[in-house]
Amino acid sequence: MLNNTSYVGRFAPSPSGSLHFGSLVAALGSYLRARSQNGQWLLRVEDIDPPREVPGAAHDILYTLERFGLEWDGSVLYQSQRLDAYEAYLQHLLADEQAYYCQCTRKQIKAMGGTYDGRCGRLIEPLNQGAIRIRNQAAVARFDDQLMGEVTTDQAFASEDFIIKRSDGLYAYQLAVVMDDAFQGITEVVRGADLLEATVRQISLYQQFGLQQPTWLHLPLASLEPGFKLSKQNHATPVDPKSPQKALQAALAFLGQQPVAIESDVRLMLAQAVSQFDLSNLPRQREILLNPD
Ligand code: GLU
Repeated sequence: MLNNTSYVGRFAPSPSGSLHFGSLVAALGSYLRARSQNGQWLLRVEDIDPPREVPGAAHDILYTLERFGLEWDGSVLYQSQRLDAYEAYLQHLLADEQAYYCQCTRKQIKAMGGTYDGRCGRLIEPLNQGAIRIRNQAAVARFDDQLMGEVTTDQAFASEDFIIKRSDGLYAYQLAVVMDDAFQGITEVVRGADLLEATVRQISLYQQFGLQQPTWLHLPLASLEPGFKLSKQNHATPVDPKSPQKALQAALAFLGQQPVAIESDVRLMLAQAVSQFDLSNLPRQREILLNPD
């Protein structure tokens, strides 16, 4: 098979729990899309929020992906190993006045109407500690999604000077995800629709940093009740790495794809799923309710 090196996709789980059906859908959707383009599929563990991490979860996720035959290319990138890169770039942004410290409290921001008004960025004597916010100079309030079509967000949300390093010293997801997708050469981001709105902020960072943005494809979320996606936080049942066949078929059906023949070797099932993958069959919905069973 000819390797089309121009497509690079990824799966980027946070190690806050085991892989459940919702994260399997995101992993499988991004895998099928990448492999059906003869592209690469990379794995990144987003372990930059230790308070939300569960010991052993990263290992557990990798093991489960392997048991599902979802083999990634190259070595796994751990965000915890990228802290120096994030810090160096933040220092550059601060020195360049593209970012500034802010000590406003939640209560103060609520009094501003819920959207931060940029006041710490206008101080004659800038602060030198607190959270760090981007001076948002490239606000974007719309983008085209490969599945959902045109996505628009609130202008105030899009233009806010949002936090890129938290006051507790943790790097914000928005900064890390953009730096790492660029670092890994990702050409298309395929992930759950819970991140649709966040995408506009990521696009504004791409523009402000002078980076080329990837294309975007947001998959429907699996929920048990409207508005409540399956998540590690709400203790969604983990998928069973010992019998991947049934969950794989259910995830394929969830993604609107043709069923595949059951094989004891899941890699054969995946190969068939890749060859049958049809983007136009993906459901154009933000959420799909599952039958509890
Ligand atoms: N780490 C995020 C999560 O597990 C996904 C980030 C992304 O795909 O951009 O929800």
